[in-house]
Amino acid sequence: MKLDILTLFPAMFEGPLTESIIRRAVEKGLLDIRLHQIRDFATDRHKVVDDAPYGGGDGMVMKVEPIAACLEAVKVDRPEARVILTSPRGRLFDDAAARELAQEQEIVVICGRYEGVDERVRELFVDDEFSIGDFVLTGGELAAMVMIDAAARFIPGVLGSPGSAESDTFSDGLLEYPQYTRPAEFQGVAVPPVLLSGNHADVARWRRHKALEETLQTRPDLLEKAVLDRDDQRYIAELKEDACR
Ligand code: SAH
Repeated sequence: MKLDILTLFPAMFEGPLTESIIRRAVEKGLLDIRLHQIRDFATDRHKVVDDAPYGGGDGMVMKVEPIAACLEAVKVDRPEARVILTSPRGRLFDDAAARELAQEQEIVVICGRYEGVDERVRELFVDDEFSIGDFVLTGGELAAMVMIDAAARFIPGVLGSPGSAESDTFSDGLLEYPQYTRPAEFQGVAVPPVLLSGNHADVARWRRHKALEETLQTRPDLLEKAVLDRDDQRYIAELKEDACR
């Protein structure tokens, strides 16, 4: 996947893109990430990238011209790129959106700052606007990193074990079951015996039940959209009955 990021703070990407799994993905050529300093595309002597909002009000708004010029330069060798704007007003970025992005060959992400970007950026150039949650960040950089990280996990070859993205939380609409590793007992807390039993069917059933319990307890909203078979439904009914007692 070819990723072009438009930002006023390219140094922020140092770290998230240069460590661990994402670093390896870059080294393997699975991710090709280029950072573009929007300020380099301001044409005036002082390299101004923001201005006061029309109509008054607090803060500054990112000007349309430097972003437009930067996009134009990027699009020369990324003609097919899907252009994404980070914004708290956007569609909520979730597991489905991460999978969707992982299918793309070319993505451009625009990182806003201050009070956000001039609305004409959105009108003229943006294909999708994404929010990473119902809160306001100081800039789009962290949102871009979150989206890139989540999407990268679905690009074949990025994760060491290909199955792991599929067993993770949200892949089947449920939260993941609890995980344990050695030692078998720590500070008096033992690993559930079924996980040591070697009985794969029992382990699978226990994990499924735990996933259902976790989801019912913390995110009951997810159960409405999850794919549940008859056993799942029966187990949930039991859990609800127990809770009423
Ligand atoms: N005045 C704007 C907020 C601007 S925050 C408003 O009320 O909607 C500055 C920049 O941070 C935004 O332009 C956007 O790029 C980024 N940002 C803030 N919160 C975000 C979120 N939840 N998801 C994605 N990007 C966000």
